[in-house]
Amino acid sequence: MTRKPIVAGNWKLNKTPAEARQFIIALKNKVAGIDTRAEILVCPPHVALDAVVDAARDTKIAVGSQNTFWEESGAFTGETSTGMLESLGVTHTLIGHSERRALFGETDDMVARKLRKVLESNLTPLVCVGETLEEREGELTEQVITRQVTAALEGTAHEHAGRLVLAYEPVWAIGTGRTASPEMANDVHTLIRRILRGIFGDSAAEGIRILYGGSVKPDNASTLMAESDIDGVLVGGASLDPGSFAEIIRAAP
Ligand code: PEP
Repeated sequence: MTRKPIVAGNWKLNKTPAEARQFIIALKNKVAGIDTRAEILVCPPHVALDAVVDAARDTKIAVGSQNTFWEESGAFTGETSTGMLESLGVTHTLIGHSERRALFGETDDMVARKLRKVLESNLTPLVCVGETLEEREGELTEQVITRQVTAALEGTAHEHAGRLVLAYEPVWAIGTGRTASPEMANDVHTLIRRILRGIFGDSAAEGIRILYGGSVKPDNASTLMAESDIDGVLVGGASLDPGSFAEIIRAAP
């Protein structure tokens, strides 16, 4: 099975709507010169989503949010629902990014609730998992990833398996310049696919894309994406510049 790669950018807390629009104009021009079968996704801050959807109209660039909530409306100050995102033309959303988990107290249970709500909508979820340095050094990677993946997928209907995307992002590699070696990353991707097989069966698990994230740059993207179970990348820092993001898109198999 050849899974279609995804090259996704997570802008985190960067870019105003005007800056975001400029980025898309620049990226659009660069992408026009790249012959790729990869899906391209950018995840701007919520305030820039509208501008980015507008600027990316009629291009190959899809737009995702960095977060969403498990309720549709009500007394939930500061939150944004899946229906609101869809009404803007957003098609994807990150769930459970390690910064959400570490800085904003997102638990495995909250990630699972968000995922169930996203799967009731038309958005495509990108569920992020990853171990900390302490956990890796304590040889707890397998245990932590198994717990995070299993907990996130708790209650996910089998019919939704085809819409899932997972992202393995070792916390120690995010924004640090330290990348997991391609083999090291692929070992965890293989573990994740094994867990997915156990939950959804062989054929459904074969179709689920698993992205790698953590200091992905133009010079390491192609070796990472050449690995058998790495189906694309989730890029933070290097997605902020249209030139380096385009190079990473070019590196997709
Ligand atoms: C991320 O935030 O998802 C990420 C992978 O960041 P960076 O590429 O900067 O390590």
